[in-house]
Amino acid sequence: MIFKKIIEGEYNTRIFNYSKCGIDFITPNFIPSFSSREDGNLGKKINSLLPWIPQKTVLISAYDYYNLERDGYLNTEEVRASFNHKFLFLDSGGFELQYSNNDDWNPEKYKQVILELNPHFYVGYDRIPSYERTSHTSEVISKSIDFLKKSDKSKQKVLLIHFSPKNNPQLEIKEIVEIIYQNYEFIDIIGFPEREIGSNIIQSCQFIKLFRDQLEKRQILKPIHIFGCFDPISVILFVLAGADIFDGLGWLKSSFDNGNLKKFEKSQLPFFNCKCIACNDVNWSKISSEEYEKRLLIHNLHSVEDFFYELRNNIIEQEMETMIKRYDLDSIVKRIFGNGEIDAKT
Ligand SMILES: [Zn+2]
Repeated sequence: MIFKKIIEGEYNTRIFNYSKCGIDFITPNFIPSFSSREDGNLGKKINSLLPWIPQKTVLISAYDYYNLERDGYLNTEEVRASFNHKFLFLDSGGFELQYSNNDDWNPEKYKQVILELNPHFYVGYDRIPSYERTSHTSEVISKSIDFLKKSDKSKQKVLLIHFSPKNNPQLEIKEIVEIIYQNYEFIDIIGFPEREIGSNIIQSCQFIKLFRDQLEKRQILKPIHIFGCFDPISVILFVLAGADIFDGLGWLKSSFDNGNLKKFEKSQLPFFNCKCIACNDVNWSKISSEEYEKRLLIHNLHSVEDFFYELRNNIIEQEMETMIKRYDLDSIVKRIFGNGEIDAKT
C-alpha cells in the first residue's frame, strides 16, 4: 500500500491517504512524538497515554526505545500491543543522539529495534551533519537510501534529509529531487527537520514550495514531512507551500485552547471550559498532579486533532482563504507565493 493523492487543493495543498489494516492516515496530519530529551518518565508516559491518543499514528524514537527497554522501563510486548490499532512511526534516533554523550548507537542496533517493534513507518538511519561546516547532502542522502534499500519492502520508508546551517538548501533542490527520482521505489515519505531548511518561516516555506514544485515536475507524488513542527501558524503556511505531515513535542509543553491552539501555561487548562473527553466533568479542585498531566495531554491532542480536521476540510472545500484570513496570514502568504523569487535571492 502506498500514499495516494486523493484531492488537489488551492495553492500547493493536497490530501493524501494511506490505508492499511482498517486504519486510515489522511494528510495533512500531526503525529504526536515522544522523546527522552524532554521527559525522563518517558516509558510510563507512553504506556499510560497510548490508548487515549486520538491520532492514528504515534512517533517513537528507536534510540529511546532501545535504552528504555534495556533499562526495564518499557516492555516490547506491551508496546507492540498498544499499536494494534495505531500506526507506529519509528524515528532513527538521530535527534536524541545529537544531545547525548552516548555514541554507541549504530545501524545494526536500529535494525534490531525495527525487527522487534515491526513499525508501519520508519526513517532511514541518519546522522545529523556537523553544523560547523557545509555538509555534502548527496552523500548524506545516499547512506540513508542504502539503509532503506536493504530493509523490509512492506513498510513505509521515510527519507529524512539533513542540511548544515552553512548550506543553502534552495540551491540543492534539483539535485535532491533527481536522487529521489532515481530511487523512487525505496522512498515513501520525504522528510526535513524544520530548523534545517531555512533561517525563518518565509525562507523555510519558500524552500518547501520550490521543492514541491520540482517534485510535481517529475511527477513524484509523495508526502513531505516537516520534523519538529507543531505551531499551528507554521503548519498552515507549510501546508499551503506543499507539506503534508508534521510531528513535534509541543503538545507536551503547554496547554492549548481548543479551536485555535493558542498557547497557555500548562496549569491553565481549566480556563477553557472545554467539554472534550479529558475535561468533561472534572473536579479541578480535587484532581491529583498525575491525573491533571494526563488529562492535559489528552486534551491537547484532541485540540490538535480538531485543528487538523478543520485544515483538511478547508482543503477539500477549497476554502483555504477562510483559514488565511482567520489567522491573519494574508501578507505572509503573499511573500511566500507572490514575490517569493525576489525574497529567495536576498
Ligand atoms: Zn478539553
